[in-house]
Amino acid sequence: MPEGDTVWLTCRRLNEVLAGRVLTRSEFRVPSLATTDLTGVAVREVVARGKHQLFRFANDFTLHTHFRMDGTWRIYPRGRKWSGGPDFQIRAVLATAGHDAVGYRLPVTELLPTADEDSVVGHLGPDLLGPDWNPDEAVRRIALQPERTIGEALLDQRNLAGIGTFYRAELLFLQGVHPRTPVGQVANLRRMVQRGQQLLYANRWRFEQSTTGDLRPSRRTYVFERPGQPCRRCRTPIEIEEFGPLGQERRSYWCPRCQPSAEPAA
Ligand SMILES: [Zn+2]
Repeated sequence: MPEGDTVWLTCRRLNEVLAGRVLTRSEFRVPSLATTDLTGVAVREVVARGKHQLFRFANDFTLHTHFRMDGTWRIYPRGRKWSGGPDFQIRAVLATAGHDAVGYRLPVTELLPTADEDSVVGHLGPDLLGPDWNPDEAVRRIALQPERTIGEALLDQRNLAGIGTFYRAELLFLQGVHPRTPVGQVANLRRMVQRGQQLLYANRWRFEQSTTGDLRPSRRTYVFERPGQPCRRCRTPIEIEEFGPLGQERRSYWCPRCQPSAEPAA
């Protein structure tokens, strides 16, 4: 699942080819937008907000899309064959004189007045890669639920926007914190969220994510998707479990030695 840094880079690239340009064609393959045509409308900018994409147009409307599990936006120079998946997976096409931007497998594709963007992204906490990143506000929001596990709190986009299961696993390993530690028992929440921001920031200019500093495919992570493999620090086998609110359980990875379980509350 794409996380905040991937969405940020995608929106940067989309902005480079679309901003300031007039659409020569638009196509939406979702029922609610089947008759919408933005041909002739200029694109103001494309920005990321957490894991959401916002395309702002000169007619004061915004296209809001979200990748969820495996959605993506691909950019093709005019005339290049599209290759992001079969045609039936295409949800949106925005074309300029020079490029086609094609949105594949987007579970969210909606158009709304730009003035109403808060209705779709206003609930988000501080954006780890946004111009308004505010670690104190992220800490304040996380700390409001001290009994909740830190693993769940980091994934909650209302606390801070951009972290998914990849960065959650790696961040908790780097901080030596077990994923099920109650928020109230985490020693330094501010350092935790700052480190999270640093991890996304360090990866923002490439689509391959690495927290180890090593870009070789088998060396990019400490614990994420390494169940049963030896910890890179202590050789203890990495553990895996799914946990979270009912119906939203997500995979969690940790080293039982480097990230010991929290003491039961007295
Ligand atoms: Zn370890």
